[in-house]
Amino acid sequence: MSELDNLYREVIMDHYKSPRNKGLVEDAEYKLFRIKNPSCGDDITIQTKVENGIVTDCRQIGHGCSISMASASVLTEIMIGKTLEEAKNIADNYLNMVSNKEFDTELDLEEAAVFSGVRQFPARIKCASIAWVAFKDTIKGDSNE
Ligand code: ZN
Repeated sequence: MSELDNLYREVIMDHYKSPRNKGLVEDAEYKLFRIKNPSCGDDITIQTKVENGIVTDCRQIGHGCSISMASASVLTEIMIGKTLEEAKNIADNYLNMVSNKEFDTELDLEEAAVFSGVRQFPARIKCASIAWVAFKDTIKGDSNE
């Protein structure tokens, strides 16, 4: 097994066992989006707070396979503190990376970079994507597009 494969497994198990930023909050300033992946029972809700163009909090809750849970946990850690522009850029590049499309290899995807391993398993692409797709929806209204 390659080093990246080992790292991939380590990161997934770590976040699966100790999910970060888990649980939603009652606060109307947060935007919420839920996505389900019927093919493997994943059900993830992402909740994001944006203040002055910066993601000041990002929460997640749900259930599903280890890849979907871990990718949601990694997402929240990475996004907190990012500007909307940075957040959207990272999310777009991450989603391209896991679905084996062209992405900016110079961009620092931080811990999410290990999910490049998902490309070898097309059936798991959706598992690794849904939290990030949901996140993009939570910041949609705040970006200038
Ligand atoms: Zn899954």
